[in-house]
Amino acid sequence: MSAPMLRLSLPHIDGTAIAAVAEVLRSGQLVQGAQVAAFEAELQQWLGARHAVLVSSGTAALHLALLALGIGPGDAVLVPDFTFPATGNVVKLVGARPVLVDVDAANYCATPAALQRAIEGWRGPERLRALMPVHEFGHPVDMAAVNALAARHGLAVVEDAACAIGARCGDRLAGTLGTVGCISLHPRKTLTTGEGGVLVTDDDVLAQRLRRLRNHGIERTAAGLVFHEAGYNLRLTDMQAALGRAQLPHLDGWISARRALAARYAVVLAPLAACGLLTPPADHAGHSWQTYMVVLAGGIERGGVIRALAAQDIEANLGAQCLSAQPSFADVAVRSPVAQRLYAQGLALPFCEQYGAPEVERVGLALAAALGLHVGAAHAR
Ligand SMILES: *Cc1c(COP(=O)(O)O)cnc(C)c1O
Repeated sequence: MSAPMLRLSLPHIDGTAIAAVAEVLRSGQLVQGAQVAAFEAELQQWLGARHAVLVSSGTAALHLALLALGIGPGDAVLVPDFTFPATGNVVKLVGARPVLVDVDAANYCATPAALQRAIEGWRGPERLRALMPVHEFGHPVDMAAVNALAARHGLAVVEDAACAIGARCGDRLAGTLGTVGCISLHPRKTLTTGEGGVLVTDDDVLAQRLRRLRNHGIERTAAGLVFHEAGYNLRLTDMQAALGRAQLPHLDGWISARRALAARYAVVLAPLAACGLLTPPADHAGHSWQTYMVVLAGGIERGGVIRALAAQDIEANLGAQCLSAQPSFADVAVRSPVAQRLYAQGLALPFCEQYGAPEVERVGLALAAALGLHVGAAHAR
């Protein structure tokens, strides 16, 4: 009998969560009801933020953040060149220009120093309005430095914490440190509602605008519903909120388990790193480890490694995209050698809190075999 398939990640939905969703379905109140309100209150508490505004996806959160800040045509926004492309797409969708910044080879994030160089080097006709730091795969960006930079240049900070729920920057959580933070609840993230997103802010006026924009521009007043401005329908359902509420009490434990799993991977992969075959990701005490991505050495063909792992029932994939390598960003392309390399050689390995040391050993052995075969084949030529 073969070992079970090791997936890149697995959603973590237990019987209690399924029962909670079923109860909402029986209740008759499916949208903007008690579950959404309760989940928002619990997230505010958990995150330590004044406002958590639930929306239909992480991308919807990023999009609404830019709209609520009034960013649009004539504006420019700094975006890391290695992320899920939604970060850059939303800038284009509001009519602004993404300015792509190369990332750090060790932690895959745009450093404050790189952001500063991009700000000081900006010569475009558009006005720089905001920074969008991405806590890539849960590695926390130095938000104190980013906020100081933004303050010096009069810029807003839209934190893309889409994949970083639970990441720690000092004593605060990722997503709570910028002007507004955006968290995704997609199934690839540590807590999932299927689709879903959270906007996080301490700004009462901004929160009111975000709530209005997600719900047709509606304000509830003493006189009843008033359509205050043209808004969207980007609401989360109560079924989804119930699913999220059932997971939230487990989230701290899951993130601790993920930190232990990352430490295990570092030990298991150390021999491959020592041979120069791959580079493991940088560690950080506040890392929330949404994805574990190693970088294969130059010359190793990633597709072959992915196929060799698949033959052992191990799922692996690229980690994230280099935006400037995508046709959709051809108009704003820059040279980002690090992001290009991470896009070409990054390899995301099976990673979720349901896995432990045996799964990591299995991946390590299969990866060593895959890379050994590769080295052997290269020598034979
Ligand atoms: C997942 C992700 C998004 C998009 O979130 P969705 O909920 O899938 O819309 C945006 N940015 C980053 C960095 C992400 O990891």
